[in-house]
Amino acid sequence: MHICIDPGHGGSDRYNRGPTGYIEADGVLDIALRLSYKLQQAGIKVTMTRDTDKTVTPVQRIAIANKSGADALISIHTNAATNPQANGVEAFYSLFTTTGNKLASYLVNQISLDLKLRNRGIKTRKASNGRDYYYIIRETSMPAVIIECAFHTNVREEALLKQADFRQQLADSIAKAVFKYFGINESQQPIRPGVKVYYNGRDITAQVQPQVANNIAKASIEPLVTILGHKYKYVSSANRIDIS
Ligand SMILES: [Zn+2]
Repeated sequence: MHICIDPGHGGSDRYNRGPTGYIEADGVLDIALRLSYKLQQAGIKVTMTRDTDKTVTPVQRIAIANKSGADALISIHTNAATNPQANGVEAFYSLFTTTGNKLASYLVNQISLDLKLRNRGIKTRKASNGRDYYYIIRETSMPAVIIECAFHTNVREEALLKQADFRQQLADSIAKAVFKYFGINESQQPIRPGVKVYYNGRDITAQVQPQVANNIAKASIEPLVTILGHKYKYVSSANRIDIS
């Protein structure tokens, strides 16, 4: 499972702003970094088209995405409209997709539900030549979705976007949609492979046989307790383990 996250804009492209100072380039990067952390914690591989405030051209974004071999791409944006009343969440997917529409609807529905934003639905946009209008959707080799999280041109939604807590909730919500897309039950996230355990610098991985899922580490009790210098005893008659 591998997701390419594309935080829109950045670097020399910092023009999209809300009426009281929110900058889309910074807001979407923050959401993307929070999302990346969350997905990686769940054992999902992440490639980002940018992870700092820098200029990445559309051609570079496509190259990064296609080279990554990711299973899906999520391009994160916040929305703008000349009508300051416009509000809510919407997503764009390819006219020719097989599963991009599914990911788009999971994203929009989850965000609308969790953040109590108006659900504007999922959309396609066709260019005059019949192809997809949006470059990031048209030129990528995997299902790609542009998620427009909320309107920074709307005073109420801009105020929300300026709150770190709201951006974290957006990231959590996007992650939930990704889990659903990959068929991951959130309470049964995959075991993260390759985890190692060190005790005072000594690699004790082989003895304790660790497993990490949902950020919870499990290991064999007996070797771990013994290595830590305690005594371990399983009391069969009481079906109890005594550690002293
Ligand atoms: Zn944008």
